[in-house]
Amino acid sequence: MAVLDDLSGFEFEDLMEDVFRNLGYENVRQADRTADEGRDVIMEEVVDGMRRAVIVECKHTDTVGRPVVQKLHSAIATFDFDGPRRGIVVTTGRFTNPAQEYAQRLRKNDDPHPIELIDGEDLREIADEIGLDLYNGRIEILCDETLRPYDPAASVTAPVEEAFRDIENIEATELREPYSQATFRPVVAITADTNAVFETSVGVIHRINDRTRFVVHAERGYPQVADDKVGTLVTENLHSTIELDTEQFEEVFDDVEERRFGQTQTEYKEWVVDRLQDYHTTTVTYTGDNNVTYNKTCEPNLSDISVQSIEPVYLPEVHQTTELGEYSYPYEYYAAGPSRVTVKDGIHRCVHCETSGVKETYTYCPNCGAIACDSHIETERLEGKPVCTGCAVTERFALKTKYFYDEQNLEAFREEYAEMPIHERAMENKPLVGGSIVTTLLVILGLLVTFGVI
Ligand SMILES: [Zn+2]
Ligand SMILES: [Zn+2]
Repeated sequence: MAVLDDLSGFEFEDLMEDVFRNLGYENVRQADRTADEGRDVIMEEVVDGMRRAVIVECKHTDTVGRPVVQKLHSAIATFDFDGPRRGIVVTTGRFTNPAQEYAQRLRKNDDPHPIELIDGEDLREIADEIGLDLYNGRIEILCDETLRPYDPAASVTAPVEEAFRDIENIEATELREPYSQATFRPVVAITADTNAVFETSVGVIHRINDRTRFVVHAERGYPQVADDKVGTLVTENLHSTIELDTEQFEEVFDDVEERRFGQTQTEYKEWVVDRLQDYHTTTVTYTGDNNVTYNKTCEPNLSDISVQSIEPVYLPEVHQTTELGEYSYPYEYYAAGPSRVTVKDGIHRCVHCETSGVKETYTYCPNCGAIACDSHIETERLEGKPVCTGCAVTERFALKTKYFYDEQNLEAFREEYAEMPIHERAMENKPLVGGSIVTTLLVILGLLVTFGVI
């Protein structure tokens, strides 16, 4: 393990923290110890409903002898924990025979404080299993689990087809297959507890008992907390992940991209602790025994915050572009099987103005491919079908603007109009027809036509 050998003792303990957290241990943390040969990692496991403390001795050395195991055994006996305790010695090297015999004897004798030994070879197997890369010089998160980029019970294009169903005047058969890209974006789901009590001479003035769960976008750069909808999408689907199999996804998507995690688990952990410390810091006003009012800033200690779990997973961001006539319509969403959070909706949007959102009515213009809002869609006079104001050819008839697909249709209607009797022409301007003024207007229109005004 070349890279492991290059780690300092301190980095080795960070790595072990990551490893044990990945293995599912809870409340994994480092404890300072005065002894010069290293520090402990302390963590907890729950067996049959009973919480047990596990004290880990990390030895970044070639060989570990019996004294190390013995010393840990007595340390466990005096370790301050209200419940059962056990120990682990983990090394990048190997254990001497006396060390192994000592641990075996504890187990055989049903010692209340047994000790497990993990050597370099075991460590390599564990690292492989949990996907920690020990070889690239960085203890990088290697994750091969992703939320589903599409619902296998539907199809990749189902979300886009669904969006187009809201658009008037377009049939599913007219839709061209969208160009589909899937970007697998790293996120981590974090659970952390903050428990702190603040006391002064008058007693407890402030208490924090809080479990925080959140999801962060974990690409290079500073971690960014995902918004609530995306956070919920990830946490609710964490149980149904699948293997990130790029080759398989390339058969379904036109383009597949996999991003890398920007930081190590330890870095995310430190970031979370910092953030929660800030978040929970508050100023409390209280009255002292002398009736004087005091302000006290209550800031939790780093040791008041414990990160319970850091779960890396890929969140697919699907980008689908549909070409229609002169326009292309982007549609972008985060996917988790049949569930999704829309990021960009270029389908519920008028190409001619700022109108967008699912509440409006949009109509497809088959003449140019536009999707337009109600104020940018008209009826084609000759065909009686929708046409948008962007591409329509217009001319006024009976004092009213009429819309045509093209000059040809306009010309055809001019001829039609010329042959219409007066009352039919008047119908071209419906608001003018009706009520007691109809006759008058017909007369006026008749006169206007007679004198060649319209
Ligand atoms: Zn519009
Ligand atoms: Zn149009």
